[in-house]
Amino acid sequence: MTETLKTDQGQKPLTMKDYKSDVKPIWCAGCGHFASLNSLTRALAEMQLPLAETVMVSGIGCSSRVPAYMTTYGYHGIHGRALPAAAGIKLARPDLNVVVSGGDGDGLSIGGNHFIHACRRNVDMTYVLMDNEVYGMTKGQSSPTTDASWQNKLTPDGTGVSPFNPILMALAAGANYVARCFAGDVKGTTQTIVEAIKHPGFSFVQVMGACVTFRPEQTDWKTEHSQGDWEASDDLHEAMRLAMLAGYLECGVFYKGNEAPFTGQAAATKPHSIAEIEQQFAI
Ligand code: SF4
Ligand code: MG
Repeated sequence: MTETLKTDQGQKPLTMKDYKSDVKPIWCAGCGHFASLNSLTRALAEMQLPLAETVMVSGIGCSSRVPAYMTTYGYHGIHGRALPAAAGIKLARPDLNVVVSGGDGDGLSIGGNHFIHACRRNVDMTYVLMDNEVYGMTKGQSSPTTDASWQNKLTPDGTGVSPFNPILMALAAGANYVARCFAGDVKGTTQTIVEAIKHPGFSFVQVMGACVTFRPEQTDWKTEHSQGDWEASDDLHEAMRLAMLAGYLECGVFYKGNEAPFTGQAAATKPHSIAEIEQQFAI
């Protein structure tokens, strides 16, 4: 997508503030999403992505409020449906830079099926999954990434269900760039988002950030997260091996694939006549 990275000619360079709207986030004080929003806006500023050529797309949830907090075009859609909407935008307007934000409940439960097929379809866009292992907006239910033993009002004995490994899922489903970051590492997350946006095809960035209200113990992630000591490569088997071995707070780029993005060209053939179809399929 690098050919779309144009700076507004003759104007002052855009700063991260230029990408932030006047809408004040209503997130709880200390929420990890503040840092993720900073990383997103810093990344777009570093790339000087034109505001009018960039679209933030989201579903529903605390992290899905991001489009309202930014000055790019935005689409705040319905629960779990951010990815198909984003794919449609990118296929209809390949000149636009399309970035999706959302949480673990929205993206992996309600939108879980869309996540798998967005990875498989490999449209050139970037998905930033802000993972706090809980449904924050609806007051603290277990999500697909919640540990089986986490006890809360709704599941006092835990769910007893093993959490997803979103990195492994993304790799298995065909995402072309796969990485994990810690939200508090704004510098590292910014650089990863920049790289993800530049990388062709579907890029998946899982950003671990605390929900201080319903998972206050996650403030310990600040010291518990680590940087993986591996080198990112296009070796899918090695990436999957790393994804199985790495702890859920072990960060780094797992995979940089070489698959060409899906552009819809193959599907956009002219309508066939009945006679042509009968001839082609020997009906
Ligand atoms: Fe952030 Fe959790 Fe508050 Fe939502 S409920 S704004 S995720 S701290
Ligand atoms: Mg969540």
